[in-house]
Amino acid sequence: MIRKNSLFCKLTRIKSSSKSLFDSFMAGFRPEMESCPVCGASHSCTTHASYERNLIDFIQGRPVYHTIKVIRVICSCGHTHALLPDLIIPYNTYGVFFCFWLCT
Ligand SMILES: [Zn+2]
Repeated sequence: MIRKNSLFCKLTRIKSSSKSLFDSFMAGFRPEMESCPVCGASHSCTTHASYERNLIDFIQGRPVYHTIKVIRVICSCGHTHALLPDLIIPYNTYGVFFCFWLCT
């Protein structure tokens, strides 16, 4: 799994949804720029596959359900990795916004 730290420290200032931030991040994603977390090779990943997963957001005081498309990349070493920006919690349906607003 490749984790991309893109927003967590800015969470309190962002007035958006996890889904829109995810879409914005993925629009700028370039698989060829990734480094493999297994072998460490740079610029060796290409898009391999994708899968859908559910994401629960928290917008205007209510839970909102989304489906997002997670990209998997494959390295020249043969390992595959899901690409998850830090607003997506691995193995969890709840987005960062949902968890953040639930705790505040
Ligand atoms: Zn590799």
